[in-house]
Amino acid sequence: MTRPPHTIRMHAADNVAIVANEGGLPAGTVLADGLVLLDKVPQAHKVALVDIPEGGAVRRYDVPIGYAIKPIPAGSWVHERLLHMPEARELERLPIATVKPPAQEPLTGYTFEGYRNPDGSVGTRNILAITQTVQCVAGVTDFAVQRIKAELLPRYPNVDDVVALEHTYGCGVAIDAPDAAIPIRTLRNISLNPNFGGEVMVVSLGCEKLQPERLLPPGAIPVVDQRADADPALDVVCLQDDAYVGFMSMVESILRQAEHHLARLNARRRETVPASELVVGVQCGGSDAFSGVTANPAVGFCTDLLVRAGATVMFSEVTEVRDGIDQLTSRANTPEVAQAMVAQMAWYDAYLARGQVDRSANTTPGNKQGGLSNIVEKAMGSIVKSGRSAISGVVAPGDKATQKGLLYAATPASDFICGTLQLAAGMNLHVFTTGRGTPYGLAEVPVIKVATRSELARRWHDLMDVNAGRIADGEAGIEDVGWELFHLMLEVASGRRKTWAEQWKLHNALVLFNPAPVT
Ligand code: CA
Repeated sequence: MTRPPHTIRMHAADNVAIVANEGGLPAGTVLADGLVLLDKVPQAHKVALVDIPEGGAVRRYDVPIGYAIKPIPAGSWVHERLLHMPEARELERLPIATVKPPAQEPLTGYTFEGYRNPDGSVGTRNILAITQTVQCVAGVTDFAVQRIKAELLPRYPNVDDVVALEHTYGCGVAIDAPDAAIPIRTLRNISLNPNFGGEVMVVSLGCEKLQPERLLPPGAIPVVDQRADADPALDVVCLQDDAYVGFMSMVESILRQAEHHLARLNARRRETVPASELVVGVQCGGSDAFSGVTANPAVGFCTDLLVRAGATVMFSEVTEVRDGIDQLTSRANTPEVAQAMVAQMAWYDAYLARGQVDRSANTTPGNKQGGLSNIVEKAMGSIVKSGRSAISGVVAPGDKATQKGLLYAATPASDFICGTLQLAAGMNLHVFTTGRGTPYGLAEVPVIKVATRSELARRWHDLMDVNAGRIADGEAGIEDVGWELFHLMLEVASGRRKTWAEQWKLHNALVLFNPAPVT
């Protein structure tokens, strides 16, 4: 049965709506209010609800997402070739902490089963991570990890996995450049992610610029072992060490060291902890015009639930919130938080300008096919993942989050770089929305994927964990899907449910954000 024509307008002041029907709507379709489509309009694409004059603003989310380059009659398909993009919002004269979101009632009584760490953080998985100082050791480490999984892991059944933290940093880099601090602290903080239980072991080559002591200086690792005979030295296997004769002696050494850590990790037990121990990173990738209608608003509702429960939620992706900076600075808890956001945006503007691009480089061909005309429209749909709570802090790229509540973690929008930086910030659960469809996953934390459209959720039934497309279909409300996601998070965090990405072991690479020169 074909559904009647269905369009979604996000705000009463909008002069465009998007077509929700699968397959789009043909020219000549009569909409509920009598408007006749002049063009075929693909699913998720915009239709003009009124005549828009040349130069007139095209409004979605009650924001001008572009200006008509020629007159657009009512009923026309409004695509990116008809629009001029607005200038970026300047970073001066922004509203600062002007909006006081209504105090939300605390949400109590929600718990999950997590691994409490000696430093107070809580893991959702029990993983041995092997840190590497330089890409040169990746092959050897990977060989050793395969053997650890085959020969040792079966003897330590409480340990979920063994993960090599592979990356491309460590040599051939301008390690003293000011911006080099970012990749170095990222790698350091990832090694200390709550899912790794404070067990840090390092494989080093020996001659690399990023020496183990620079990566993890004394004091960087919280003391996890209070026994008097505990060895405070960093556990490093250095492949160029004279003691190693032949490849196999290196591998044996990595296995020997790994076993000490596995034994301690194996003794970890899940215990009931409050939902406030969740550190959730939210991001989107492969977005379409439904992202901002279904999945992201549901995530935003869930974000507010988590904040009410006392948890930490990080939203990110600088270029995808840059055009909504005024919405964010106005929601900051304090002027200092607003200023910290502006400082991050200004740094990123300058970073893009050095590369002679701007935020408009963000949208992909897939985004445009999915109905997103430009970065302004994409940003308005992306920002709703942050919900309505006050923003209580800002995390610089690679830094660890040190407070609870809703945080802005400044990261590029690149899925892999964003996920990597959120891992460094201490994320123990990841939520990822997608409209075009991406099989994204990380080895280090569970990734819950939310589809924006039912058609995608059906086709990718064994990759998508939640179908927010039901909102566009009229089968569920934003709040229903938000609550469903909240409950699913507690199940996944407790290890009672695996996400599809975990089920199939779909793991994307860690990608360090290195704005510093490479030599
Ligand atoms: Ca992304």
